[in-house]
Amino acid sequence: MLSTIKDMLDKTGKPLLQEYGFQTPLILYYHAVSDSKLPHISHLYKYKDSEFFIKDLNYLQRHYTLISPADLLQGKELPADACLLTFDDGFRECSEVIAPILLERGIEAAFFLNPAFLDNQDMYFRNKLSILINLMEENEYTQTQLECCNAIFPDKIVTGKSLKEAILTINHKEKEKADRALEILGFDLKEYLEKEKPYMTTEQVNELISQGFYIGSHSIDHAPLAKLEFTEQYDEMIGGMDMIQDKFKLPYRIASLPHNDRNLEGQFYNAMRNNLDLLFGGHGLAHLIKYKYYRRVNPEHSKNIRFFLEKQFGICLVKKYF
Ligand SMILES: [Zn+2]
Repeated sequence: MLSTIKDMLDKTGKPLLQEYGFQTPLILYYHAVSDSKLPHISHLYKYKDSEFFIKDLNYLQRHYTLISPADLLQGKELPADACLLTFDDGFRECSEVIAPILLERGIEAAFFLNPAFLDNQDMYFRNKLSILINLMEENEYTQTQLECCNAIFPDKIVTGKSLKEAILTINHKEKEKADRALEILGFDLKEYLEKEKPYMTTEQVNELISQGFYIGSHSIDHAPLAKLEFTEQYDEMIGGMDMIQDKFKLPYRIASLPHNDRNLEGQFYNAMRNNLDLLFGGHGLAHLIKYKYYRRVNPEHSKNIRFFLEKQFGICLVKKYF
């Protein structure tokens, strides 16, 4: 069986989705692309540097037809090898690194933002946790500071064991703990937001729009939807969309889920379909067209996009045939 799958994938020298029953388009999502270490991201997930991002684009442009979000909005018939690029979280690198590369290649894309973090008003708490891990790894703190942190976090931190895991257990309900710990360690978050500007500004987003890119909402503050009541889910997604649409005077309403779609129910998808033009999700190749819901895959942790995609398709084929 495995050799059959391999033959199918290798037949044309590239993985073909639709010939084997996958839905079009293939949709990828990224967060940031940077040649520097980004302390607010580096302990959460991998991101590509510009060289590897360009390698991804080279491969995708060779083997796929890169489409615009407008093609989906207008319900155009898509080629079998259609592929769409999307970018979540609204980091500064979207405007400063990613957009110039895409523009040079004539690639259209969608960028999804959290209104709570636009203009660097605040930071998503897990990005704060990444900064915290970075601080603990790179600095020596007094016993008193560590003991104070220990009062906030699990006691593994003081002994230095599983530091990262301990900090990353903090959840959305306890998000203030991240602020308190940063304060105890003398880290000035306000100054970091002002100086480093991890997120895009209104001006940068307006520039993306004038360059022909599409903008959407990524919930108000990146809340874990699966843990919320329906009304809260609605407020996060549709409230966030209203804010983004009003601010940027958008003639369309597109949004992406801030996390995966596990435990989201019919009532949620119905409400999204009735209030959005398109909804994008995470982790998957199968779309729920009747809900205008499109799943996406994230190639950021893989240095070779061809292997990454073949693995995704392989997993789906195995699921399909066994
Ligand atoms: Zn996100």
